[in-house]
Amino acid sequence: MTELMPPKFLRTLPALALIAVLAWPAGAVSEKADADRYRGHVKVLAADRMEGRGAETKGLARAGRYIEREFQRLGLKPMGENGTYEQSFLVTTGARLRPQNSLVVTRNGARHQLKLREDYIPLSFSSVGSVSGPLAFVGYGASAEEFGYDDYTHFDVKDKVVVVLRREPPAFHEKSGRQGPTHHAHLITKAINARNRGAKAVILVNGNLGKGEQDLLLRFERLAGPEDVGIPIVQVKNAVADSWLEAAGASLSQLQREIDEKSEPRSRSLPDSLQVSLRVEIEKLRSRVHNVLAYLPGKSEEYVVLGAHYDHLGRGGANSLAPSQTGQIHHGADDNASGTAGLLELARVFSVERGKLERGILFAAFAGEELGLLGSAHWVKHPTLPLDKAVAMLNMDMIGRIRDGKVYVGGVGTGSNLRPLVEAALRRHRLTVDYSSSGYAASDHTSFITQRIPALFFFSGLHSDYHKPSDTWEKIDAPAAANLLDLVADITEQLAAAERPQFVKVEAETRGAGSPSASGGYGPYFGSIPDFGEVETGVRFADVRPGSPAAKAGLLPGDILIQFGETPVKNLYDFTYALRRSKVGDVVEVKVLRGGQTVSARVTLEQRR
Ligand SMILES: [Zn+2]
Ligand SMILES: [Zn+2]
Repeated sequence: MTELMPPKFLRTLPALALIAVLAWPAGAVSEKADADRYRGHVKVLAADRMEGRGAETKGLARAGRYIEREFQRLGLKPMGENGTYEQSFLVTTGARLRPQNSLVVTRNGARHQLKLREDYIPLSFSSVGSVSGPLAFVGYGASAEEFGYDDYTHFDVKDKVVVVLRREPPAFHEKSGRQGPTHHAHLITKAINARNRGAKAVILVNGNLGKGEQDLLLRFERLAGPEDVGIPIVQVKNAVADSWLEAAGASLSQLQREIDEKSEPRSRSLPDSLQVSLRVEIEKLRSRVHNVLAYLPGKSEEYVVLGAHYDHLGRGGANSLAPSQTGQIHHGADDNASGTAGLLELARVFSVERGKLERGILFAAFAGEELGLLGSAHWVKHPTLPLDKAVAMLNMDMIGRIRDGKVYVGGVGTGSNLRPLVEAALRRHRLTVDYSSSGYAASDHTSFITQRIPALFFFSGLHSDYHKPSDTWEKIDAPAAANLLDLVADITEQLAAAERPQFVKVEAETRGAGSPSASGGYGPYFGSIPDFGEVETGVRFADVRPGSPAAKAGLLPGDILIQFGETPVKNLYDFTYALRRSKVGDVVEVKVLRGGQTVSARVTLEQRR
């Protein structure tokens, strides 16, 4: 699983879905999922020798070969490329700055070379190459028709290098009525806007700072974004940009204040005597990874896709929730050895039904999920079976930690008859399903939904080992998972025979400002690591980073945050938005529950580094 998404789509089910789908014989699959075999697969896939199945590790390929051998042993048809079980593709696992980066300013003929990491830094999604030209200041670089504001109105930046402020005018936030920043604050939005206006490059500056906040450059390694945003983009320190604006008789902070107060653009060209030459050279680190695909043909050409991602975080990285343990194997037993083992067990269960099913089943073990659903996205772009014959997709991501017999099923609104089909199947199994809990998460089924293929998502909930080295095999509840697999087998069997579900588009709610790393909108540093396990209300801290503002205020692991300043905290979203609205240097009164008592503390927010 990659990122949390809200369950709103689960509440917008179409009322027309009560089509009779209950006529097919239920439970005709003769085999049951076996808890011991299942546990065995999890144990192998989450073992140290699989190295956390990171895209850059040999362990991922090793895990892929294990899956392949199982498919082969079961006599399933290879459905990768060239008669093999594998479909390979390249992923970018990181980026490195090459030594050739440079930023040179020429002023009235005098050259000044800026220092990398001290004066300027390229962003990881910058285009590479060399550009030079005159400068122009374009405020926040925003074109926000909806707020009657455009930094580019009557202002031509063709072939210029534009200087852009981070964030957005405060009026956007007020007018949008949103708690977080709008998409105009995203660095990517700013870069694309500048590119579309014909600018040659973007130079980003922090602009006005909060109390006690330093003018820090973004960390190159910490930024996530697209491969290449199509224009060079670097950040410079405020002082650098200010010296340029001086040449035009202006000041950066003065211009920003005017924009903020009047909500009016202050775009201007800088004198032609001032020129910049920029060279960005970034080395992308790439790995070749594989989807592993096997097919059980049915009587017709139509088929159901059963999927699970088998990759994980390797030894940590940007998505680790235990950054202090970077370098340790992140075992990913629940995420997602649990789903992969389920896929293998279902492959065994269905291989016994050879020739009996009306529709075929594609068993798909995806790679690259943790890097952004890359394996499933690659498959739907380069399907190894006709995509229009895919009836539905069933995704298993984190199914190994079922508590109290409760599972989350997402996507029931994406197909016309899915909800009644799931409900009918449920009556034959000892499980309860939560359709409306916040357990819905972005995973590979999303790639299928974007192709208008109905998809279901099975998930047993978050926990405090999520994306940490401690997500290990012995914490998996194999009998409960086997029970869920019987339900998935039942639903699969129905889908392999029932009337084909019609795709239903369900609006996905987008919360906040998308990828926080690319938006520059995280807010100040607090220092708690939330526990994703369930609490009635509030946010429980799985851990508190040593030396962080939270630690200095005496907050402890296990505390449940219920109040942040004026804001009651009911869930992680409340906390995130409250934090985003705060400034570095703010002293915030917080309340936590500790052992049934309410404890107050004062936290001084710091700058993220
Ligand atoms: Zn996952
Ligand atoms: Zn994950």
